[in-house]
Amino acid sequence: MKEGKKPPLKYPQKSHRVPKKDITGKQFGLLTVIGYDKDGKWFCRCKCEKIVSVKSNNLHYGNTTSCGICGNRKAAIDRTID
Ligand SMILES: [Zn+2]
Repeated sequence: MKEGKKPPLKYPQKSHRVPKKDITGKQFGLLTVIGYDKDGKWFCRCKCEKIVSVKSNNLHYGNTTSCGICGNRKAAIDRTID
């Protein structure tokens, strides 16, 4: 008897219920998305190296653009393009 893991139904998605839209690597203000957390939240690395978990809605609507410690100064956002 197997227990614990059920075979996936008909969802052609990765495990752990990763949202359809993968935003890993995207940048939102001071935050760079580094991976999926859970419950619609994404791990982001702030410019100050702090890792925070932010709801995707807050990223998309621009509500959250930093770790919250760096302050909400919009002027603090500077772009670095590789
Ligand atoms: Zn920060």
